[in-house]
Amino acid sequence: MNNSPLQASLAYAHDHVESFIEQYKALLRIPSIGADPAYRDDVRRAAEWIVAEMERLGIENAQILETKGQPAVYGDWLHAGRDAPTVLLYAHYDVQPVDPLDLWITPPFAPDLREGKLFARGVIDDKSGVFVHLKAFESVMSANGRLPVNVKFIFEGEEESGSPTMEAFIEAHSALLAADVAVISDGGSSDDTPRMMASVRGIVTAEVNIHGPARDLHSGSFGGVVHNPTHMVGKIVGSLHDDEGRIQIPGFYDEVVPVSDAQQALIKANEANAIAQAREETGLETFWGVPDYTFGERATARPTCDVNGIYGGYQGRGAKTVLPAEAGFKVSMRLVDNQDPTDIAKKFTAFVSSFACDTLQLDVEVLSSSWPAETLISGPIARAVIEAYTTTWGKAPRMERGGGSVPIIGMFQHVLGIPVVSMGLAQGSNAHAPNEFYDLAYFGPNVDTAIHFLFNMAC
Ligand SMILES: [Zn+2]
Repeated sequence: MNNSPLQASLAYAHDHVESFIEQYKALLRIPSIGADPAYRDDVRRAAEWIVAEMERLGIENAQILETKGQPAVYGDWLHAGRDAPTVLLYAHYDVQPVDPLDLWITPPFAPDLREGKLFARGVIDDKSGVFVHLKAFESVMSANGRLPVNVKFIFEGEEESGSPTMEAFIEAHSALLAADVAVISDGGSSDDTPRMMASVRGIVTAEVNIHGPARDLHSGSFGGVVHNPTHMVGKIVGSLHDDEGRIQIPGFYDEVVPVSDAQQALIKANEANAIAQAREETGLETFWGVPDYTFGERATARPTCDVNGIYGGYQGRGAKTVLPAEAGFKVSMRLVDNQDPTDIAKKFTAFVSSFACDTLQLDVEVLSSSWPAETLISGPIARAVIEAYTTTWGKAPRMERGGGSVPIIGMFQHVLGIPVVSMGLAQGSNAHAPNEFYDLAYFGPNVDTAIHFLFNMAC
């Protein structure tokens, strides 16, 4: 048993965990803020660092692949044999901006170790996903000279910007990225129980602008004869839902399919906890929404349409008798399986256009969109992840359905046509906030988890 390839790999990882962490700091020092053009060269430098590390480890075809946005990094090792599965390992190396900078105890790109925690921007979101997979590869390769499965790595540089050019990129490289499963390693959990994402919702964001007269007018001179754009905003916004919260956009629910039994069981199991947590976070006792569904269903398994902001007319103190020239609002719609964001964007546009009249001009602009997705939580691939955690941590991972959106998951499912499983490889907190940290007591276990997963996939 001690001489098995798995044990040899784990032994290598355990012997090198200190040097792994030292090396991790070099990647953390590169300020790869993907959303800020001022850091363009640093983003590329981070991509180049990863390519160089891949080459050092014996990962083949290591290269930067250009996108229309930030560079992606690819590498593979495909010598496990034709019968062995091929896994596509995904993480992102771009990081969130760092402001407010004065709230950081130590600078965000000067990794600092305090009380067993490593502080740096991106340390858990998501350079950890990149680095832990590379160290798992290194451990298995150094110990055995080969891997039990074929692996492909794809590391993104624009996740924190919403992956705007990744769908076209994946389409263009679909043959190169072909695999049996995509493993998403983005973030992790904030306590000592590892976490698997079970679902994400898709999203469509849009803005509606309504134009009336050429300039703001006096309501005394023109009230009653000029159509007021804010009235139209109120009319459209008021028509989005019925009194119980059902969305009134024609055809909006047409493609929604009921969640699987396994996912439904997850919703049920987490229902009480989800309500308690929501009460704490919102300060509300009573919640809202379509009464035909439970809280857990409404929060993760049903689509939404929320107005995020309304503008128009005078917002200052006291009265001002203005008849505004324009008004508008912004919406975000969260989508669930198997809604198509393009279809929903069309239906929303048609709904707004149905209010068209001779006296106002209505403009709809779709701002962004992404697919909803469910990830694997049962079956052999999910079991390979669950057992990797269970063996390492002595307990099963927490599976959580999410109400938010991770665009890349739907892209892998829809463009590559492969299943996706989530495997978080970080323990810590403050992602997207000052003083992001990784609790290093769990760094080794996360490398172990990634190693176990490769061997579990080979069985
Ligand atoms: Zn992330």
